[in-house]
Amino acid sequence: MISFRQVNKYYGDFQVLKNINLDVVEGEVVVVIGPSGSGKSTLLRCINRLETVTEGQLEVDGTQVDESKADIQSLRKRIGMVFQHFNLYPHLKVIDNITLAPVQVLKISKEEARRTAMTYLEKVGIRDKAEAFPSELSGGQQQRVAIARGLAMKPKIMLFDEPTSALDPEVIGEVLSVMKLLASEGMTMVVVTHEMGFAREVADRIIFMDEGRILEDTTPAKFFAEPDQPRAREFLSKVI
Ligand code: ADP
Ligand code: MG
Repeated sequence: MISFRQVNKYYGDFQVLKNINLDVVEGEVVVVIGPSGSGKSTLLRCINRLETVTEGQLEVDGTQVDESKADIQSLRKRIGMVFQHFNLYPHLKVIDNITLAPVQVLKISKEEARRTAMTYLEKVGIRDKAEAFPSELSGGQQQRVAIARGLAMKPKIMLFDEPTSALDPEVIGEVLSVMKLLASEGMTMVVVTHEMGFAREVADRIIFMDEGRILEDTTPAKFFAEPDQPRAREFLSKVI
């Protein structure tokens, strides 16, 4: 589903991604871990071409993302992304936040988009908030709306960039449990998170990044018990 081959990326003279080789197969949940500034967000943002790669090949669901003629519209329809800050439209009700893209981009009828939106609101456990405005919701509820909005496009891949980092501790669990549900249903997911419990329990694979490189690409069992790299051991000793 996702394949990085010898990918390098520069911001000017600064190399942010260094020789990235990474494969994600359909239905896999890959959790990306690493210190701040190690390139995790950049890696994620290359997948839906919010950032472009400088060198190497990147293929996502059959689209050659590194090629300038790649159909980015079509690519982004197939990828949902959830950010640390939910990026909901504050002037739109929850239901309208969710139906906007399906109606405008997928050209689905308003009625059908509403029906679909309600099923996803049900899935994330906030069906009763359909007519509320984002400002009337808790952070955890807003993030669940953001996830429902992503799902409403029926994506083949969901990308999460620290989806719980801006949340109060007491609502982190409700967002993680929605993500866990998606994982159990076979969604292909790449998740950047500092939630080590989630990583251990839900990830099929852990990617550990440091200074733009992938230093570990292994199972959670191995990563948490005995990572090969001293940098990974040091990182774990600080976060666990
Ligand atoms: P992470 O998500 O792991 O914290 P990022 O991918 O956000 O890391 O950033 C990696 C490095 O690239 C950081 O040193 C950051 O300052 C730098 N960086 C990120 N975005 C840009 C940009 N648009 N221009 C220049 N440097 C950037
Ligand atoms: Mg980041």
